[in-house]
Amino acid sequence: MISKVHEQLKDYYIRLDPHAETWELWIKGEKSTLETYEVAVGTILVQNTNWRNVNKAIANLKRANVFSFEELQKIEKEDLEELIKPAGFYIQKSIYLKSLSNLLSTCILNEHTPSREELLACKGVGKETADSILVYCFQQPVPIVGTYTRRFLARIYGDIDYLRKKYEIIQEEIIKVLEKNFEVLGRFHALVVVHGQNYCQKNNPMCLECFLQTSCTYALKTPNRFENRPNSEDNN
Ligand code: SF4
Repeated sequence: MISKVHEQLKDYYIRLDPHAETWELWIKGEKSTLETYEVAVGTILVQNTNWRNVNKAIANLKRANVFSFEELQKIEKEDLEELIKPAGFYIQKSIYLKSLSNLLSTCILNEHTPSREELLACKGVGKETADSILVYCFQQPVPIVGTYTRRFLARIYGDIDYLRKKYEIIQEEIIKVLEKNFEVLGRFHALVVVHGQNYCQKNNPMCLECFLQTSCTYALKTPNRFENRPNSEDNN
């Protein structure tokens, strides 16, 4: 069922994705060093915030010419905090960015793809962030599992176990039904996030407007879900 849903999501969001510009940069294959840097920085900055705030922080970094891993290593921590303030949690995120830039500057210099273990050893890099970096910065075919993925699969399959299932088990399930290709897996993750923000929201999923309603166990089994509130907000 996931591969069918993936196709439906892709067709729809190619036209409608409100963050298409941001995600297109992430999804595309070979990237310049600058693009790799922007995406890697984005994986840290986006933690616990939304893209609007991330884009403000990235614009600040650009204005201050902090736009390489080397510059990130050089800049004083307090100055970095000030620049990334719009993304929130800026004290922790400045530490995370410096830790990640130490690893990635060496990797890029040596044309080496970091291992998942090396990424996980960086401060502030959990499984979702590590896998996002592998897919979007180093074109590795790894499924990414986040809060949106868990909620989406739980509803599509009508199985709340997805909310607490082991990360790696969900990865195995995704890889069984989607092509083991970084573009497919990266796009699937991006689409699920956008869908979760626009339709499959945490508290009031907008099933009535959702183009997946006939494929979704949750919608089919929960008719009162159609009494949703279209104006609710959810960034989780
Ligand atoms: S039909 Fe409802 S629960 Fe199912 S994917 Fe769409 S918004 Fe989510």
